[in-house]
Formats: sequence, structure tokens, C-alpha cells
Amino acid sequence: MQNLKNLSDDMLNYCCQKHSLDNPPAVNFEEDEANARNFLGKTAFYDPNTSQITVYVSSRHPKDILRSIAHEFVHHLQNLRGEFRDVGYFGSDYAQKDSHMRNMEKEAYLNGNMMFRDWEDGLKHATKIKLNEEIKMSNNNNDKKINTPEKENDLYEKRFGDRNQKLFDKLKKTWTKKK
Ligand SMILES: [Zn+2]
Repeated sequence: MQNLKNLSDDMLNYCCQKHSLDNPPAVNFEEDEANARNFLGKTAFYDPNTSQITVYVSSRHPKDILRSIAHEFVHHLQNLRGEFRDVGYFGSDYAQKDSHMRNMEKEAYLNGNMMFRDWEDGLKHATKIKLNEEIKMSNNNNDKKINTPEKENDLYEKRFGDRNQKLFDKLKKTWTKKK
């Protein structure tokens, strides 16, 4: 859960930077197993009155949760633009009935998913660089830390080669005696 919060913070900071926002909206992480078992259960929603995102986290892949948060973040942007003002219809099927809400929903799906994707790719890239740097550092500082298969084999031979040879000699003696 802490890891999820850290990832969510990181992603929201990225989203804020992209849209020149100073502060990300607050996120409530809801655990609700009964809701998770219901196919038509809730995944996330944005409250334009409190500017808060609520996301349901039970039994979901972290990427799915973060994608939901990115989607709701777009609704937050829409709220800051005043797009929730004078919203006529806000029933559960608003995405089908109200054309303004339908367009807002389209924007949230498209931009939310793309923001999530861009952030994720950036994270992968950063992790790759970090890993490469760590490998380089350990190669420079201590070439014993990361070994090629040949080096591993040498190490093994050094450690066990002698012992194996003795064991082999002993067994050979026993076997040849019996013959
Ligand atoms: Zn939405």
C-alpha cells in the first residue's frame, strides 16, 4: 500500500508538471472486498465539490489503479476549467445521456491513459538508466560483484574443484576395489 501511494504521488507529480499545476488533488485509497467482487462495482470517482479522487484498490493490479487515478486527474483538470459547473445530468449513465459529459469522459479516457503510459515509460527508462549505472559502478569498483559465466565457473572451481577431485579419487578407489 505504501508503495502504491508512492507511485501514485510520483505519477500525480508528473501529471501536475505536465499541466503546470502546483498541487495534485488528494487521493483516498478505499479497500472494499465486496465492491471488488462485484463486476459492476466502483473503480474510482472524482468529487468536483471536494476536488478529491477516491480509488478502490482491493484485488486490482497496481497499474490498473494508477490508470484510474490518471483518469480521475483529468476530471480534476476539467473541474479547474469549470467544466463541472452547470452540469445538467449527473446520473450513473451520464456518459451516454449528456453529450457534454460524454466528451469530458472521452477526454479523461484518452488523456488519462496517455499520461499514465508516458509516466510509465519514463519510469521504465529511468529504472533502466539506474540499473545500467549500478552495473557500471559495480564493474568499476569491484569486478567480482557481477560475474560472467566463465568467472562464476572459475570461482566454483577455486572453491570446490579441489574437494571434488578428492571425492572423485576416493570414489574411484572404492569402485576399483570392488571390481
Ligand atoms: Zn470518468
